[in-house]
Amino acid sequence: MKPKVYVARKVPPEVKAYLTEHCDCEFWESRERPGRERFFAAIADVEGLLTAGTPVNDELLDHAPRLRIVSNVSVGYDNFDVEAMKRRGVMGTHTPGVLDDTVADLTMALILAAARRVAELDRLVRKGGWVKGMDRELFGVDVHHATLGIIGMGRIGEAVAKRARLGFDMEVLYHNRSRKPEAEARYGAVYVPLDELLARSDFVVVLTPLTPETKKMIGREQLARMKPTAILVNVSRGAVVDEAALIEALRNGTIRGAALDVFEQEPVHPDNPLLTLDNVVLLPHIGSATERTRTAMAMLAARNLVAGLKGEVPPNLVPELKDLAPGRPV
Ligand code: NAP
Repeated sequence: MKPKVYVARKVPPEVKAYLTEHCDCEFWESRERPGRERFFAAIADVEGLLTAGTPVNDELLDHAPRLRIVSNVSVGYDNFDVEAMKRRGVMGTHTPGVLDDTVADLTMALILAAARRVAELDRLVRKGGWVKGMDRELFGVDVHHATLGIIGMGRIGEAVAKRARLGFDMEVLYHNRSRKPEAEARYGAVYVPLDELLARSDFVVVLTPLTPETKKMIGREQLARMKPTAILVNVSRGAVVDEAALIEALRNGTIRGAALDVFEQEPVHPDNPLLTLDNVVLLPHIGSATERTRTAMAMLAARNLVAGLKGEVPPNLVPELKDLAPGRPV
């Protein structure tokens, strides 16, 4: 008998076919979320769950007593309560690697958009605000040969460093908990303490995972250390940056601007003051959102799920749950 799984996210046809071949699937097809009651009813007797962003905590696990594996269609897995999953022996997987270039492309788009005021000036042209003789008012700042500080030089961070260094002749600084000799050798990236990175960078890109340690890692104090001409780019998770402190910094000129793909609350609340500021570029969490990459992510997530349900070691079990791999002594 095939294992029962719930696919809580719309997946491309080839992924659907693969999952159906190996599992007894229920698919959630709508764009709207299923709603609590319906979702909990749907997972009551499943062994596998494919999702993105659903909090996998004690409450969810209480409603899914037969669950053996949760497969995230994302590289970030801050939705996993890994301690709760460990206690119940539920594996969790993610999709690292297949999205690096796509997210790095978007990061460069945000850097360029904020530096050259692309979204702001697009709005100006549309509103008929482009009048003859405009010059200085439209100036931006250069990206090429500027200094880029990457907080979180991991897989995506390195793909950003490559673009910045080889494409834009930027000087690359980075900060991690540990050094990354490959990035230093390949892209001349220089490891510096966080405060030094903040003080020296023209662009600060945040690319850490969201963890208890990185939550609000960029707050008022860190923003105050940045140059008044600097631009903050957040592509990681909204909660890594203290949004209230960022809004204050954007309003009072502590920094020049920001570009955000992620927010403390998603979708952004219509009353969020960020929506009223011209010196911030806002995107609806689309870092990995291209057809090809989202398909690759969904297929990888499906393969992780099926491997786990077959009793194999899923290729992308998250590091904190490695001890739950089949065959490992408990
Ligand atoms: P990764 O390879 O694990 O890289 C994360 C980096 O962050 C590592 O180099 C790690 O280095 C560093 N780090 C972790 N904790 C830190 C801390 N407390 N202080 C400083 N550095 C720290 O992950 P990735 O694949 O590049 O993805 C990074 C994150 O991007 C994901 O977790 C996700 O949240 C986000 N993301 C967003 C989108 C989007 O659509 N906007 C798409 C994909 C990913 P050390 O371990 O040495 O500290």
